[in-house]
Amino acid sequence: MSKSLIVITGASSGIGEATARLLSAAGHPLLLMARRVERLEAMQLPNTLSRHVDITDRVSLLAAVAEAQSLFGPADALINNAGVMLLGEMSKQDPAQWDQMLDVNVKGLLNGIHAVAAGMVERKHGTIINVSSVAGRKTFPNHVAYVGTKFAVHGLSENLREELSPHNVRVVTIAPGAVDTELLSHTTDEEIKTGYRAWKRDMGGTVLSANDVASAIVYAYQQPQNVCIREIVMAATRQQA
Ligand code: NDP
Repeated sequence: MSKSLIVITGASSGIGEATARLLSAAGHPLLLMARRVERLEAMQLPNTLSRHVDITDRVSLLAAVAEAQSLFGPADALINNAGVMLLGEMSKQDPAQWDQMLDVNVKGLLNGIHAVAAGMVERKHGTIINVSSVAGRKTFPNHVAYVGTKFAVHGLSENLREELSPHNVRVVTIAPGAVDTELLSHTTDEEIKTGYRAWKRDMGGTVLSANDVASAIVYAYQQPQNVCIREIVMAATRQQA
């Protein structure tokens, strides 16, 4: 039987890219979205549509999903992964950075849900996997606005799970600790970045890899449809916080 379409946001690096590679190897057609479309295309995955989409732009996200579904059939899963982490002290941080995190991590994630939820409810089949963070369950220094967005992801995901469960649609929350990706590079405060890198070094250089998290995402998706892994919380063994 041919495999169903899977939609992945933020597939141009890190966890999204690793998940795209695993799900493609498992035989799924994919819709990959990010702003750096050239990195999506460079993966050269078969049966894959790569589209330049800023997930805060609802119209272009919806258009990409519609185009992919016309090519490959209905989307059976959404990996709602795109996100930004701009760490900062509230007394000093440029409010434009909170705006960006709320727009991408919360409103962009809702745009992804909006694009697929109605179809999944109608078909009584589907899986929405929202990538939150351990910072969606507990606080960390210099994370105030980021923690705010990830607590939102945890809260809305559990509420969405309740709402979609009578329709046989699964909602899964993935909550990783520190992962070795480009995520930290967008923080502009050099002192905070240095401190964060030292924290990662204190774990003996053994933070999670993007592939570790991608494997957990694939594990949750590959369960039978009647099994919903509600949440996966994972971190390096040596991550204490
Ligand atoms: P990366 O920075 O490597 O990847 C982030 C991805 O999000 C990129 O593909 C980027 O693509 C995309 N993205 C960012 N903004 C937008 C936007 N406006 N529109 C579309 N795509 C966008 O980091 P990670 O792989 O680590 O991050 C993936 C998720 O994992 C995030 O939600 C993050 O919060 C979460 N996470 C990460 C942890 C970590 O320690 N790394 C820990 C816990 C959770 P492009 O720039 O090309 O648009």
